[in-house]
Amino acid sequence: MNALSSISDRELRERLTAAVSAERMAAADVIYHLLELDRRQLYLQDACSSLFAYCVERLGYSEDGATKRMRVARISQRFPQILDELASGSIHLTGLFQLSNYPTEENVDRLLAEARGKSKRQLEELLARLFPRPDVPATLTSSAPEPAQAELSTMSGAGNSGPPPAPPEPTARARVEPLSATTFRVEFTASATLRHKLQHARNLLSHAVPSGDLAALIERAIDELIAVETKRRSGAGKPRKHRQTKPGSRHVPVDIQRAVRERDEDQCTFVDAEGRRCSERRFLTIEHIEPFALGGPTTVENCCLLCSAHNAYQARLFFGEEHVARKVEEARADRDAAPGEHAESAVPAEPAVPTEPAAPASPPARDAFQKVQYALVHMGFKATQAKRALEELRRRGVEPRPEPLLRAAITLLMP
Ligand SMILES: [Zn+2]
Repeated sequence: MNALSSISDRELRERLTAAVSAERMAAADVIYHLLELDRRQLYLQDACSSLFAYCVERLGYSEDGATKRMRVARISQRFPQILDELASGSIHLTGLFQLSNYPTEENVDRLLAEARGKSKRQLEELLARLFPRPDVPATLTSSAPEPAQAELSTMSGAGNSGPPPAPPEPTARARVEPLSATTFRVEFTASATLRHKLQHARNLLSHAVPSGDLAALIERAIDELIAVETKRRSGAGKPRKHRQTKPGSRHVPVDIQRAVRERDEDQCTFVDAEGRRCSERRFLTIEHIEPFALGGPTTVENCCLLCSAHNAYQARLFFGEEHVARKVEEARADRDAAPGEHAESAVPAEPAVPTEPAAPASPPARDAFQKVQYALVHMGFKATQAKRALEELRRRGVEPRPEPLLRAAITLLMP
């Protein structure tokens, strides 16, 4: 900063222009890198359940910033010229985000041409003119929207083909805005049915909640829901129709499920090589740490919670892409055959398996060692311990495939 105080006005202007230009190039470069990171699904290795989580937790973007970049990245897969606009500064990142729902093969060039050099407000006007919508307030740029699930997961699979997206419906996302340290304003759009149900509940609870206060009413309802759902998951109170666990069945008994959920505090337990834990609390399944297929027992110690993304990731590491795809199919068939039956398995019921091929295969030997190191760290061994064991196994010339390597490493680490 001090260095700047002595330069001339002209030089200051020139330098600033150069810095802004570099910033724009960098913004486009970030998107390119995000796309490649997503293609390789590297965020999974780094204990993030999605690219969105990676952007927020590892790269330090705000939720808004992450959503914008991911949306622009996704649309640039179909229309790469969009990133030229960003790099050249013709359209800013927010602008591209605003446009991101609208381009089609037919309109993209015209749309970009019209959008160049426009401010956020001018772009709103442009879009309103080109894509008139019913009389509802636009919420396109409202603060911190929860990204849609599709954006939360991966961008791979957004694909280059497929029909262009329809111009968006007016979004009606819920908003949660802190008002003070202890209060929040919650805003969402209710259907007529929900409105009717709320009225009905208010009447039924008129003695318990005389004020009819909506927040009090909803808190009661949510308390009930949590109690019911917790009970359902833990199997408490259910007459134990003692399903004989068949030998060879990977069924996890409810008491083990409960203990595992409690111990893992309803959070994915995937830990990366640096010791960072995945923060995902949704789409969790119970998985065997030492894979069931390799003889891992169904005990509390050998089971853990994984989010669907890391569940599939682990399964891929051990068994390969093809095996996981088959298992996902089987799980889906099982689920369709026995609805309501919530079988936990080593692969997720919801296929979180990417449709894109994974990263270019590195040399198989190095790959297997790396995979097993991650697996060992995930199982609770220290990274240094795991590394040392694997170095030893490399010296001994153990076959560089995940299965034998993992077995040997465990034997070595747990004599
Ligand atoms: Zn996870």
